[in-house]
Parts: sequence; C-alpha cells; structure tokens
Amino acid sequence: MKEHYVLALDQGTTSSRAILFNKSGVVIGVRQIPFNQVFPKPGWVEHDPEEIWESQLKAAHGAIEAAQIEADQITAIGITNQRETTLVWDRATGKPVYNAIVWQCRRSAEICQELRALGLSEMVREKTGLVLDPYFSGTKLMWLFNEVPGLRARAERGELMFGTVDTWLIYRLTGEHKTDPTNASRTLLFNIKDGCWDKELLKQFNIPEAILPKVQPSSSNFGITGKELFGVEIPVTGCAGDQQAALFGHACFEPGMAKNTYGTGCFTLMNTGAFPVRSEHNLLTTVAWDLGKGYTYALEGSVFIAGAVIQWLRDQMGLISDAAESEKLARSVEDSGEVFLVPAFVGMGAPYWDSDVRGTVVGITRGTTKAHFVRAALESIAYQSRDLLVAMEKDFGRPISCIKADGGASLNNFLMQFQADILDRRVILPEVGETTALGAAYLAGLKVGYWENLKEVELNWRKKREFNPEMAADRRDKLLECWEKAVSSARSYH
Ligand code: ADP
Repeated sequence: MKEHYVLALDQGTTSSRAILFNKSGVVIGVRQIPFNQVFPKPGWVEHDPEEIWESQLKAAHGAIEAAQIEADQITAIGITNQRETTLVWDRATGKPVYNAIVWQCRRSAEICQELRALGLSEMVREKTGLVLDPYFSGTKLMWLFNEVPGLRARAERGELMFGTVDTWLIYRLTGEHKTDPTNASRTLLFNIKDGCWDKELLKQFNIPEAILPKVQPSSSNFGITGKELFGVEIPVTGCAGDQQAALFGHACFEPGMAKNTYGTGCFTLMNTGAFPVRSEHNLLTTVAWDLGKGYTYALEGSVFIAGAVIQWLRDQMGLISDAAESEKLARSVEDSGEVFLVPAFVGMGAPYWDSDVRGTVVGITRGTTKAHFVRAALESIAYQSRDLLVAMEKDFGRPISCIKADGGASLNNFLMQFQADILDRRVILPEVGETTALGAAYLAGLKVGYWENLKEVELNWRKKREFNPEMAADRRDKLLECWEKAVSSARSYH
C-alpha cells in the first residue's frame, strides 16, 4: 500500500514554500520559490498576486517532485501564510484589481490617524484585540476603496472578493471564498469574542459586507482542489496565519505555553486558553486557532530587531563575517564587559511601543573589545524577548511554563542559554525546525483523521535540545538593572 502524506503550503513574505510531512511529522520533500518585492514609494510594499499564486503552485509541484511521490499520496493540504497582506479580486474573472498590499506597507498611516482622531481606538481594541495601525488589513482595504475609482460601487454590488493571502490561495485552489479566524482576527474587522465580522466596525470603516470571505474553523473543509492543478482532487482542510501555525506546530496546546521565533525580528505568542486576555502592556490579543470547538486565544508581541542586529554587525559594521561567528566571539569573553546595546534601530515594540527611540550603546571603556560588543548584541535579543515575555506573564497572571524556540537565530546555543538564564525559564528547541509549516499540516491532517487527536500531535513533537536556567538570581537582577538603565538612556536621548 502506498504511504500517504500531508502537504503544507507556507506562503511567506519573500518566498512561497511547500513541504510534505509524513505521519511522524518528518519532512519528506520541500521546495522554496522566491518572488518579487514591489516598492512603489518609500514605505510602500506590494506583491503581484499572480506571482504569489504561481510561485506557490510551483513550490507545491516541486515538493512532490523532491519527495518522489505521486499527488494521489497527498491526503490533505494545509495553508499557512504571511498575515494581514490585503488582496481584492473580481468575483467573475478571479483577476486581482490591484497588487497585494503587504503587511509591512505603511500607506494607510493617515487613515489610521483619522480613525484614532474619531476616538475609535478603544472600540477597536475591545472588539478585535488589535491597535489602529497600518499593519493590519482593514485600513489597507479602506485605502483601496478611497483610491481605486469605482471599487466601492463594485464591492457593494457583490462583484469583488477581499481576502488575506490564505483566502487568495484557497480561492485559486478550490474556487471557495473562505478564511479562518486566525487570519480574520488580523483584519481589524473581525470580532474575536463573538467570532464574526463586526457590523459596527464595518459601518465605521465603510466596508461592504459582501466583499468578505466566510470564516470557518482553522481545521475544517475549505474545499477540494481542481483536478487540473495536481491531476487528482485533494481536500484543503487546514488554514492558519504563520505565527499561529507555528504555535500549533510547537504543540503549545496548554495555556501558559509560549513560542518565540528568533528571525530578523522575534515573534512571540502565548496560548491563553479559551478566553481572550486584554493586555495592559501593549500586546495584541488574537485567535490562536479554532478546531471547531470554540476558539483558543493567544497574546502576541514582537521584537523589531533581533537577528537583524547580527546582520548589522556583519554587513554594516564588518565585525563578523557570518552570523554563526557571533557565538564563538560571545563565548570568548566571560561577559559583555558591562556593555549594553539597545538595538532600537526602528523604535521599540511591545512592551515599550516607542517609535521615536533609536539605538544606543552604553558602558564602553578603553578595555571594550569586539567580542564584548558582539556579545552585547546577542544578549540584547534575549533582553528584548525577556521584556516581552514578562509583559505576557503579567497580563496572563501566571508564569509561562516554557518557551519553545525556532527561527534562524535559535541555532545560536549561546543565545538560547542566555535567554533561559535571563528569563529564568526553560527554553526548548524542536527536532523539526519547520514548525510553521508543520502547524498547517497538523491542522489539515487532524481534520481528515491522518492524525487522530492533539495527543498524537503532542507525542510527535520531539525536542532537539533544552536550555535550563543556570544563572544566580543576584547576577540576573544586576544585569536586568543595567539593561533597564540602557533602555532608559536610549529613550531619553530623542
Ligand atoms: P526570517 O524568517 O525573519 O528571514 P530566519 O529565521 O531565516 O529569519 O533567521 C535569519 C536571522 O537569524 C538573520 O537575521 C540572522 O542574522 C540570524 N541568525 C542566523 N544564524 C544565526 C546565529 N548562529 N546566531 C545569531 N543569529 C543568527
């Protein structure tokens, strides 16, 4: 009998990837296709929707080829995607009416300002768990209605479809117009408590309801792929935004479990269980997933500059020749020599939310070496994540049980140990680094019975390495005191 597999489509900001997993959650084939970034003006970022689709389909075929299997061995497809990126297309022809407006794009900053001036921030926070920022889809859609002639009238006549990237892929794969609550909860239009598009918000933002996709559980039947795509019909049964999919892929199923992705920036999510927790520390409240039995919620925050500080040391400062060298240098000294680097190159995210602050280095002496500087840079990634995770603990009201880590910089063992030490919590690395894609695969596979239940998924999650806190409390307190002073001096400079 032929073996069966689950295909995860991982549609990211710079590339489309497809990964095939077997029942043990092991990767058996992968393909990655990069695509173009469009920068029409400073601060604006777009993608060509057709390129997103074509690169994703090509990646899927490539993964099947790499795994040397037939398409009829694929039991189900799960989708995970760059979140918040906004698309509109014609219901009759399926043709996009504009480029995809990418999550990073700041073009709707003025619209956000106007909405804030109308006093809508509190209502938005209460209903959606989000802040009025151009990052999220809603004001990008408003921008399209304001700028593209005739668009609103067409939307009102029901001639257009809006979607985030998951919806676009589901539409092209199956013809259905659908999304899941993890993606819907990033639009500013979705009430995360009631689980529906919010009529009051739609009215305030002047968005016709006819343009919105149907929202259904993250693990459910989204449709069947057209036969022309893979030669066979395959059900699409999983869908979640990338960060939520990673939380699921890490099997963070219990409230209090958190994941931290150490990439260019850090994306941190903590499972808060069946209730949305309102943050008092500038964190977002979001839907973690919906398995069809009510929502699981998460608190979310991000560190803007994490791995990017290591890139900066390499590319701008010329202090290291590759990222891995940072670990060797950091280990060559006992400590950072009282040097603290605050890499607030583009402001600071939660819990600070200070967009004006810029980077600072404090504590330099005649004895400071390159190794101290590099170590301080690595430590800054852990300090920032620590601040975020402590804010989550305060909002949640109890300690985080463990941090599951992934992303490029999680390969740095020095950083992971320092993170465990400075946070005083266990940090665990998984055997399979592809947690985002794995999360989408699990959501899809659970629906079709490829995996029986969450217990089976949990058992599949194998740890590669664990880092336990070893630092003495008085040393940790001293370091944190210095870090806080460094952050204060950075913030008082501007
Ligand atoms: P993204 O998905 O955001 O592009 P990745 O997960 O691919 O990021 O991680 C890349 C980032 O990780 C880069 O910013 C790089 O500087 C950093 N990085 C990679 N390897 C290491 C390492 N050994 N030590 C520290 N940082 C690293």
